[in-house]
Amino acid sequence: MPYNKVLVAVDVATESSYVVEKARDVAGGNPISLVHVLEPAYFYYGLEPGLGAIPDNLEQELLAQADTALKALGQAFDIDDDHQYLERGHAPTQILRLAEDTGADLIVVGSHGRHGLRLLLGSTANAVLHGAGCDVLAVRVEG
Ligand code: AMP
Repeated sequence: MPYNKVLVAVDVATESSYVVEKARDVAGGNPISLVHVLEPAYFYYGLEPGLGAIPDNLEQELLAQADTALKALGQAFDIDDDHQYLERGHAPTQILRLAEDTGADLIVVGSHGRHGLRLLLGSTANAVLHGAGCDVLAVRVEG
């Protein structure tokens, strides 16, 4: 049985296409949704002192970049705007909230994405797996 409502969490900074392809396979023709969560910039600045002062327009700039990247991914997979979500906040929390709000029956994540910070903070995949009220597919991503 294919899943009816598949939510794919995409870290647009890394290789997301492969994860979306896998999601499409298990959706078996049912529509899939994409979510990207923009986490607060000051959070990263706090963790990476070498970055210096936070530019005033950084949040807006990052939001615009994320929006462009999400739209490009949606277009590549023929996913319309109504099935693309750009959220702000803590990635696992927002992914889980959206899955519940939209009645997703499967959440798809990559096994890992960004390096470095996530090694410190714990993986999104792990947090989603432990917090989800539905099935979770962690697609093995190399590297
Ligand atoms: P990571 O926690 O960086 O190891 O990433 C594991 C997976 O979690 C990624 O492949 C994505 O599927 C998902 N993920 C990580 N960060 C985000 C984010 N900011 N927004 C949406 N999904 C994310």
